[in-house]
Amino acid sequence: MVENVIIIGSGPAGLSAALYTAREGFNPLLIKGVSSGGQLLLTTDIENYPGYSKIAGPELIRLMEEQATSFGTRYVEGDITKVELNSKPIKVYVNDTVYETLTLIISTGASSKWIGLPSEKNFTGRGVSSCATCDGAFFKNKDVIVVGGGDTAMEDSLFLTRFANSVKVVHRRDSLRASKIMQQRAFANPKITFLWETAIEEITGDKKVTGVRLKDLKTNQISEMKIDGVFVAIGHQPNTSLFKGQLELDKDEYIITKEDVLTNIEGVYAAGDVADRFYKQAVTAASAGVKAALRVREHISMLNFEKSQA
Ligand code: NAP
Repeated sequence: MVENVIIIGSGPAGLSAALYTAREGFNPLLIKGVSSGGQLLLTTDIENYPGYSKIAGPELIRLMEEQATSFGTRYVEGDITKVELNSKPIKVYVNDTVYETLTLIISTGASSKWIGLPSEKNFTGRGVSSCATCDGAFFKNKDVIVVGGGDTAMEDSLFLTRFANSVKVVHRRDSLRASKIMQQRAFANPKITFLWETAIEEITGDKKVTGVRLKDLKTNQISEMKIDGVFVAIGHQPNTSLFKGQLELDKDEYIITKEDVLTNIEGVYAAGDVADRFYKQAVTAASAGVKAALRVREHISMLNFEKSQA
């Protein structure tokens, strides 16, 4: 059976694409992937999704999925192992199972970036984390560091003050990238302090993290600090490794799109953080998912027209 549309990824882009293509009667098949739900599952309170003054990330995803399902979206759990985007129909593999489709919407999102220290890897799950929402509660009355100066770092820092004794934000520059409101909240929180123009050189400990070696980036001076946890919040890397060599990617491996969602292959669309190095909001991802769905509609009606003329 050849599907009308397969959607890869179940964040706001994928679920919005599913909602729209389902309402078109295309009976979409959504392949969820292992990190099902995307980054919103790791987000605490969302205050900037229009229509909700405050909603938890997982709850917003649950509602989106419920809505997409109610119009006939079908789901497959599992990670894609291979794609053949240039074949007609397009082929998508989940281990040994191959799915064929007329159109494909890629909304595989992005994953957390790591600093790149060997010690960071060694201590992951033993004091080093990239998910404050998941691991924050383990740091009750502890002292923790958050690395980064963006919205994620501020959101994580604020969230961690619910548990931790103190939160130190380690940032490589002397000003934040985060939005004004998040900066103001972080500056106003007495548990949060800032170490400007500073980088982590090494994370130290034995069975778990007990400290860090810090580098003052102005003076190159090294200092030691006792700490119980390190939360890395330095941005994200698009999940595009599967598409290398088939889709055009930019230097940071985001999918290059034209007219918002068109890729270099006809019938293949990209939506959300996988193709968005700038906006990266739940609402902009949802919007891109809708645009991709409308392009699918256009493409399928063109295919139907061609078939009727043949
Ligand atoms: P981001 O905006 O790209 O910020 C990443 C931060 O990490 C920057 O401050 C950057 O420093 C720093 N950084 C990057 N690489 C580093 C490295 N190797 N070592 C040390 N520091 C490094 O990423 P984000 O905070 O994850 O946010 C991504 C997007 O999601 C943004 O558009 C943001 O607005 C959005 N977001 C919104 C909310 C919300 O509205 N509630 C919450 C979370 C995220 P520089 O500043 O020097 O580049």
